[in-house]
Amino acid sequence: MSHLIEVTNPATGEKIGEVKGISAKEGVKAIARAKKAQELWAKKPLSQRVKVLQRFKKALIDKADDFCRAIALENGKPLMEAMATEVLPIVEITDYYCGHAAAILSKQPISMRRLKYRKSYIHYKPRGVVFVIGPWNFPFVIPVGEIIMALIAGNAVIQKPASLTPLIAIKTRELMLEIGLDPNLYQVLPMKGEEAFKLIGAGVDYVNFTGSVATGEKVSAECGKNLIPCTMELGGKDPVIVCEDVNIGHAARCIAWGAFANAGQVCASVERVYVHESIYQKFVDKVVEVVKEMKIGDPFKDGISMGPMKDPHQLKIVADHVDKARNNGAVILTGGYKIDGPGLFYAPTVLVDVNDDMDCVKEETFGPTMPIMKFSDIDEAVRRANDSPYGLNAYVFTADRYKGQRIAEKLQAGTVMVNEVLITYGLPETPWGGVKKSGLGRVHGDDGLRDLCIPYHVNYDLPYQPPWSLFRYPYTLTKYRIFLSSLKTVWGQGVGAKLSGIRGLFK
Ligand code: ADP
Repeated sequence: MSHLIEVTNPATGEKIGEVKGISAKEGVKAIARAKKAQELWAKKPLSQRVKVLQRFKKALIDKADDFCRAIALENGKPLMEAMATEVLPIVEITDYYCGHAAAILSKQPISMRRLKYRKSYIHYKPRGVVFVIGPWNFPFVIPVGEIIMALIAGNAVIQKPASLTPLIAIKTRELMLEIGLDPNLYQVLPMKGEEAFKLIGAGVDYVNFTGSVATGEKVSAECGKNLIPCTMELGGKDPVIVCEDVNIGHAARCIAWGAFANAGQVCASVERVYVHESIYQKFVDKVVEVVKEMKIGDPFKDGISMGPMKDPHQLKIVADHVDKARNNGAVILTGGYKIDGPGLFYAPTVLVDVNDDMDCVKEETFGPTMPIMKFSDIDEAVRRANDSPYGLNAYVFTADRYKGQRIAEKLQAGTVMVNEVLITYGLPETPWGGVKKSGLGRVHGDDGLRDLCIPYHVNYDLPYQPPWSLFRYPYTLTKYRIFLSSLKTVWGQGVGAKLSGIRGLFK
């Protein structure tokens, strides 16, 4: 059943658009059209596909201001943030994969350990139709990065944008059509979540999902039922460990940005901070100073550090976490309230005297909060940081690079950054994804592109063939005994003996 999806500006509550929602039935037809278009697209040489996406990059650069404004209006992040965290990373991602796809997807030879008279290689073919289900917090960079990669790899894409932010998806598709992409190759289907769910078993070949753990679990179970591979980019409760040797001013600025960028609506947002007791008070004072300098308001105005939240439901969760913490003895040093007015502004909130059992430290808040706690020894900090069902990113601040790496390797997170926060998502050469409830699989990096393909294996013969083989009739007892004794003399020995023994066997 078709329905209308109303889109609002989160800074004012005003309606900015209306989009026709699509039913699952129409979605199934779109998948069929995508399949046909994909067959032709996949036949084009990679270099031709790359040329098309290079045109997209150029067109996006020409319209960058337009796109940043559209993102700021629909999602609420300040214009500068729309540039730094959405548009620029897409230019970078497109550039990287246009430049490297040929090498990443080139045939990969495999050297044979045993059968030296045969050889193997892997070649990559696109999966087919990639279903990208995206979130509202980064409505451009998250889905579009995957869409670019999927197209370069030779796939068609069906995008289901979040119902709160369908406009930027429609705008992206318009740009793709302007640069000459076949309209059936990339289709945007604004639709309800439950309608999108019905498409999982309806002909898509891969699902890339970004959203909450609860929905990710449902979607991945449906993928499992239909044996469709998927990537799940889910939530986080990302910890920061601040060691006693840091430059406190630098650490406080970075970490405050990590907590309040995009009004804290970032899956890799700084959600809990553990600070060494010897510098705790100085660090807290510095953070409060940084937060007091922040300007909250209209994302289009000069100097604004933080815009509104996007989802009224999420704002309630934030208020609930903060109120519960306050009622249980936490001290709120800044913020702690929704700013009056029609916009969804929640003041940046620094909490102290919190403990590991409070919701604001345990559950994903996904809003502008920063609970700060003390630790006395690094093993304790690592244990508390790891004591979470999530594991997307984690952060360590220390003046000692090697100590930073040692701590990083103990943290249970898909990515750990030392002396920086958040930004690896915009670095396409690095993999992104979580452990534990934070997700399955990785996007970006070279493997992220290969995952959008099926690795086909070819094993072929060389002119030289051995006179006899384990894998032929007749099965004689003599042959059996030779192999029985060779198991002991060859496979039961060290590596050197194995190799010379194996060579002997197959000569
Ligand atoms: P959020 O609460 O942040 O919107 P969700 O996980 O609910 O997170 O949504 C992430 C994306 O998944 C959105 O595009 C949403 O519309 C979509 N979605 C929600 N429910 C389902 C579902 N049952 N099947 C497929 N997609 C869904």
